[in-house]
Amino acid sequence: MKVILVVCDGLGDRPVRALGGLTPLQAARADALDRIASEGECGIMDVIAPGQPPGSDTAHLAIFGYDPFACYPGRGAFEALGVGVELQPGDVAFRCNFGTVNEDGVVIDRRAGRISSEEARQLAEALKEVRIESVSGVQAIFHHSSEHRGVLVLRGERLSRHVSDVDTHKAGVRPAAPRALDNSPEAERTAKALQEFLEKAGRILAEHPLNRDRIRRGLMPANTLLPRGAGTLPRIEPITKIWGVRAAAIAGGGLYKGVAKAVGFELIHVPGANGTVNTNLRGKVEAAIRALDDYDLVFLHVKATDNVSHDKNPAKKVKVIEWISRELMPLVEKVSSEGYYLAITGDHTTPSEVGEHRGDPVPLAIMGPDVRRDDVRKFDEISCARGALCRIRGTDLMRILMNYLGRVPLFGE
Ligand code: ZN
Ligand code: ZN
Repeated sequence: MKVILVVCDGLGDRPVRALGGLTPLQAARADALDRIASEGECGIMDVIAPGQPPGSDTAHLAIFGYDPFACYPGRGAFEALGVGVELQPGDVAFRCNFGTVNEDGVVIDRRAGRISSEEARQLAEALKEVRIESVSGVQAIFHHSSEHRGVLVLRGERLSRHVSDVDTHKAGVRPAAPRALDNSPEAERTAKALQEFLEKAGRILAEHPLNRDRIRRGLMPANTLLPRGAGTLPRIEPITKIWGVRAAAIAGGGLYKGVAKAVGFELIHVPGANGTVNTNLRGKVEAAIRALDDYDLVFLHVKATDNVSHDKNPAKKVKVIEWISRELMPLVEKVSSEGYYLAITGDHTTPSEVGEHRGDPVPLAIMGPDVRRDDVRKFDEISCARGALCRIRGTDLMRILMNYLGRVPLFGE
């Protein structure tokens, strides 16, 4: 028995005035989604807890069955894994922006004039020579990821993720000096190593010919790094071991690949899967169908629904939902003909009039050969609330799916 879990990011929504008081899911013509609801059991899911707006990282931990309040290790390690950095236990990873500071050290652009990937990659190369000397046994590893973004890894003994963000998310102020967020010597060591790295990196970047050239061309030099979101690998048992399944993940966005990898999924690379509305969704669905031959649990992530929600574009969200539904139809056919299970849901609600994550529950539908089919015929926030699954928490979902696969051991005798 096999199951595929489809998560559309930020799928949940609220009634939208421009859609006549309907949610985008209610307004969409989404035959595949409605078929899953019709043939399945439906419900709504509080991904973290009722009313708690989830980040995508904590939301996915919960959906994969891990209590994020107990095991969330910060975002940095997920980002690092997602761009292909091999992390070791004890590593502390940060997401970084290349930014621009003026002569007073004040941030004038958090994205260094949206520097190109090609230029940022060259600058990242130059940062390889930074050596940490003020803290013994610590190595700094910097990787470019995309555009103005990169990942910094501090590797060594006795480091901690409890250090503050350097990036203030604001222009017009100096970056915050890294400081220990607890009184531990580990956090002190980490903050000190980070400070040294930033000073040395800043000098290398300021003198780099590529930045001098950018100044000559009237562009912002990428003369500083703005780390945030310190994180480590989560201390958890891999999902493959907990349930005894082979598990594969298909995602475009780095964060989702990172969370999936951190909990034990194998990543399947799909060319053109990029975590945007222009993603190669057809390729991802085809890869998912193939993966069902080799894996028991397949995770398919689609980011576009969240992107258009943050853009406050409900009409586009309707179109994106309709597109996703069309592209999912071959997968629904496959699952139906093989007698597999398919679950579809969101990782949080991103109301497209608000443009930010909110704590409203998300709709959920599970189809499969022997699920308790209910009366719900349409996949949306309101219809699914009347379904047989009622209202569950995000951390319940994986056990519910594994129960269908016969993978949940008996509790008691
Ligand atoms: Zn999300
Ligand atoms: Zn979002």
